[in-house]
Amino acid sequence: MKKEAQDKVSVLKPRPRIISRNEHIISRNNISDSALKVLYRLKNADYQAYLVGGSVRDLLLGREPKDFDVVTDAHPEQVRELFRNSILIGRRFRLAHVRYGREIIEVSTFRAPHHVADGAGHMVDGRIVRDNVYGTLEDDVWRRDLTVNALYYNIEDFSVIDYTGGMQDILAGRIRLIGEPRQRFIEDPVRLLRAVRFAVKLGFRIDPDTEKTIIALAHLLEEMPPARLFEEILKLFMGGYAVQTFEQLRHYGLFAPLFPQTEATLAQQEGGFPHMLLIHALNNTDKRLAENKPVTPGFLIASLFWIPMNIMAKEYMANGLSETDAIHLAGDVVISKQITRTAIPRRFTRIAREIWQLQPRLKRQGGKRSLRLLAHPRFRAAYDFLLLRAQAGEDVQELADWWTHLQEQDHAKPDTEQKITSGIKGRHRRRPEKI
Ligand code: ATP
Ligand code: MG
Repeated sequence: MKKEAQDKVSVLKPRPRIISRNEHIISRNNISDSALKVLYRLKNADYQAYLVGGSVRDLLLGREPKDFDVVTDAHPEQVRELFRNSILIGRRFRLAHVRYGREIIEVSTFRAPHHVADGAGHMVDGRIVRDNVYGTLEDDVWRRDLTVNALYYNIEDFSVIDYTGGMQDILAGRIRLIGEPRQRFIEDPVRLLRAVRFAVKLGFRIDPDTEKTIIALAHLLEEMPPARLFEEILKLFMGGYAVQTFEQLRHYGLFAPLFPQTEATLAQQEGGFPHMLLIHALNNTDKRLAENKPVTPGFLIASLFWIPMNIMAKEYMANGLSETDAIHLAGDVVISKQITRTAIPRRFTRIAREIWQLQPRLKRQGGKRSLRLLAHPRFRAAYDFLLLRAQAGEDVQELADWWTHLQEQDHAKPDTEQKITSGIKGRHRRRPEKI
């Protein structure tokens, strides 16, 4: 930004609205003890300390926050000195993690937006750390993404500080970008995904101006570093609202740049089973999360790319490859194409490939071979995937029923050889995947 433009912005910057304790519903009873400890210790050391971001937003909505983030004017080293149970992390953004048992409170220092740092040549330890230019609370507000994510709960007087109209947007159920949407999306296209994710999660509507801009700028995701996108994808599909998120991403044209191969098959067969397979898979994920059951991104990856992989495998088979070889090769090709768009750690693609490769093996039924397959560490996932294919209308229902029956029999006979091969060994060898 040009210097005059900057001056103009600072002249035009609104004054904050201070929402006092008796005008909002945030009670310290709903803030975790660890977060309160951090806030109070900073305050007692004469630093400013605020809760910010998702926790303030969720508390104002009467929801339970996922975690508590704190901002302060203390520098990371000063935070480190104040808390023996803290470590400093991050190269670009240095911040402190303060640990209490399993809970981590993230404490960051007020940061200034990029343009404030421009031309100042900030160097620390020989590195340019433009993103790490410390600022004031007022600076910190303008670098955040959504108005509803830029509310600050002040431990000094329990008020909420609102510079951007976030409180009104919370009350109205509105997702709005801070500042000029176009500029803010170009600055960081991940915000396109965040806007949609929070709209779905909170049941909010996206402001029309922000909405138009999302559709116009969806293509920016194509140029994002793949590594940055993987983390976002997990948040999109493992947040408990995968089905709606998927529908909204497609509505805004954000699905295609993330998953071009999948989009191509969905676009061709709208309403057909490619669509249904994915919807069922996402729905299962949401249900499992709602029941606190573990979910693996590997299964999601298998579902997302099953159709494009299968179409390609069929072509290879038409050219004379065996089904096993065709699935192997098509899996390689589809995954290698995808990771140029979004990174996917190998531990997850490996699971997806195993699930795919077990599908033809599930067809060969009977005898010891089937019993041995029950003990395969990936059997359960492959069987669940078979059920998914049946649900989505593929002609495998009978096969799925056969495997369901075999497992029931297997469990009913504790002392047989089957139990030894399938149950006990299987259970030991199967390790639940964590994200
Ligand atoms: P969640 O409930 O998912 O944790 P959150 O709002 O706390 O929601 P985080 O990803 O934990 O989301 O980020 C914390 C805060 O940091 C956000 O509320 C927002 O103010 C800011 N933030 C995060 N990512 C961005 C971004 N890409 N651009 C601008 N601000 C961001
Ligand atoms: Mg958070």
